[in-house]
Amino acid sequence: MSLISIVVPLYNEEGNVAELIRRITAIMARIAPGDTYEVVAVNDGSRDRTLSILRSLQVLAPNLVVADLSRNFGHQIAATAGLDVARGDAVILMDGDLQDPPELIEAFLAKWREGYDVVYATRKTRKGESFFKLLTARVFYRTIRRLTNVSIPVDTGDFRLMSRRVVDALGETREKHRFLRGLVSWVGFNQIGVEYEREARFAGETKYPISKMLKFAIDGITSFSEIPLRFATYLGFIVSAVAFLYAIVVIALKILGLNEPGYTSIMVVVLFLGGVQLVTIGIAGEYLGRIYDQVKARPLYFLSSVERADARAVPVAANVPSERSPISS
Ligand code: UDP
Ligand code: MG
Repeated sequence: MSLISIVVPLYNEEGNVAELIRRITAIMARIAPGDTYEVVAVNDGSRDRTLSILRSLQVLAPNLVVADLSRNFGHQIAATAGLDVARGDAVILMDGDLQDPPELIEAFLAKWREGYDVVYATRKTRKGESFFKLLTARVFYRTIRRLTNVSIPVDTGDFRLMSRRVVDALGETREKHRFLRGLVSWVGFNQIGVEYEREARFAGETKYPISKMLKFAIDGITSFSEIPLRFATYLGFIVSAVAFLYAIVVIALKILGLNEPGYTSIMVVVLFLGGVQLVTIGIAGEYLGRIYDQVKARPLYFLSSVERADARAVPVAANVPSERSPISS
């Protein structure tokens, strides 16, 4: 009999957790009666009641595993921690705000049983998101596709099923600036997509303000492409060539005695070159900073506890004993 794990990173989702667990439990009871399953909820340093609600839900949902990170590490690291904790033969990763409908798990499992290792969910439509988010997401997925050799599917988030060997392979990649959807594509094996309609958030607000979205986009691009670095080189060549031609013109004018006192042209050249230099240094710096982070080789996260309640040993509504141990990875 196979075990299915459902991994959900949660940051300040107090309004969503109860409904989330209810919907997951309902769908799993219907579609996987023979299969056992576990829900791995990762509390990513929430400042609200997310953790205490999760603990109280464990009494009713004994297959709920609560992993508590030592602080907020961000969505991608929290998801990684959940994948590390999950023990399933198939592992499903989903958001905790019900934008990813748990009901799609049925389609995931069907494809998995057909032999696919990764079943990713492609967004056909996205409800309840701003025009700005829709536009930037569209541009982002198409840009990163052009910049990298890894074929990362467009309009596809982290909502997906992965087989045990894919989860193990992912577990071996310990890069700090994680772009999970890219890493999963990079890992390979048989992958297939299913389409779905992305719902609006059930409760609460997005945890991805523009600043985090931008950081995430840069992480994705720098993790999977060196083209921006080459861009600096190309730009350098182009600017040098133009400067060389311009120098010839200026010298010719000087010889012909036609040169004017040139404040404007000097300012334009100085400002333009200054801008180009800062941009290219900035690009190099993005990569350098990531190398620095990687070289420090700090653990990706610390878990302050993992609490499992054994489904068979504990009668519902009894006092659930919990194992608590500090773990790092
Ligand atoms: N999340 C997290 N840590 C963070 C930010 C977000 O674990 O620092 C979780 C969040 O609780 C949610 C998922 O990541 O379950 C996706 O976040 P969100 O829904 O805010 O992103 P959006 O759907 O707006 O892109
Ligand atoms: Mg969301």
